[in-house]
Amino acid sequence: MVRQLLPLFIMLALLQRPLYGQDYLEIEASKHCLYFGDAMPGEYYRFETSDSIEHLKDEILYKTGKPQSFIFICSNVPSVVAVVEGEKRYILYSRKFFSEHPNRALRLALLAHEIGHHVNRHELAEGKPTEVEEMEADEFMGYALCLTGVPAQVAGAISGALPLASGIDTADRNADIMRGFRRAEASLLNAEHAAWLEEKPNEVAQSLPHFPFPPPEYSADADLDSYFGHCKHFSDADEMLRKALEAAGYHTRRYFYVPGGFALVTRMEQFNEDGTCKGEKYRWSGKIVRCEDFSALCYLKSIVTTEPAYFRVFVFIVSPQLLKNAPPPVTRKEAEGWLNEGANRLPADIGGFSFEPGKTHVTALVYEFKVRESDRKSETSSPSALEGATHLGKSKITRYLTKK
Ligand SMILES: [Zn+2]
Repeated sequence: MVRQLLPLFIMLALLQRPLYGQDYLEIEASKHCLYFGDAMPGEYYRFETSDSIEHLKDEILYKTGKPQSFIFICSNVPSVVAVVEGEKRYILYSRKFFSEHPNRALRLALLAHEIGHHVNRHELAEGKPTEVEEMEADEFMGYALCLTGVPAQVAGAISGALPLASGIDTADRNADIMRGFRRAEASLLNAEHAAWLEEKPNEVAQSLPHFPFPPPEYSADADLDSYFGHCKHFSDADEMLRKALEAAGYHTRRYFYVPGGFALVTRMEQFNEDGTCKGEKYRWSGKIVRCEDFSALCYLKSIVTTEPAYFRVFVFIVSPQLLKNAPPPVTRKEAEGWLNEGANRLPADIGGFSFEPGKTHVTALVYEFKVRESDRKSETSSPSALEGATHLGKSKITRYLTKK
């Protein structure tokens, strides 16, 4: 019986889909700011909500402490648009656009810009935003990007990544975005925030995700104690590591709790067999990249080679605890997942731990993965063909860790 009815169910399901998608939306959207795209559609439809985009919108409102003053609807617009219709305020967003732009920072930036128009109670009276309205929306964007953990470097590149439909100059926009970003940074440091952290130190440490400890089997390690002899607090060691990583191009990093201290994890990168980094264009790509230039020789080499591609993650552990390898090794997927779990800043209470040279140790662990081109299988290198110190030297991290 069920088998006979199955084609009918499928037909019904197919019929349901367009009906669900074609929910007409009555809205007068002439006063608007469209972030990206040529023109607004003539008619509007309401589509099924995207949970991931709702979540980003909620995150912006929560982190900036703003109430939601607008109706948020998935619709047939070119990208994201803020609309003012009398007393009503809307943000319409395109599921298609966001699925084509999966970058978290860019998604946050677009949403925050449009939310910024509503937070500032803009009129958009001329049918499009004025220059001042655009400036304020961009400033709110920078403010929100900082509070949602987007690094300054990334926020600084947003204005160049996608132009505003209103055509405001990229350099001007960047200054507005970064002004908002710096304002948020300063507010994070203000007394109120510090007091909050002091009141709840344990809560902060507990809320920090835990790095597996003892650490899973690593491919190489290096003792960095000699660089950190002058540190007084854990925050000093954190600052040195951050500066060196920033200078060496590791802009995305995450913090985890380990017993007695913290772990700082870099984003997974693709590197060359000798330990040097791939060029910026390919370094963070998950796809195997052999030829960074387009020379015929490189191309020929790449099609006959059986050499695997190399990926790695650095984990810096600052703690008085002794480390030992704990098999089994992690998979590439697990190591990649670390970046989604950790916190973007070191909580102040852990930063305040006193660093005792000789007792507190700073160790770099390297998790290296080899990926075969033939079947794309990833295997953990245990051990790596390179020493830990070579990984750190070739990636230029130790170059920027100055001994004092
Ligand atoms: Zn705008």
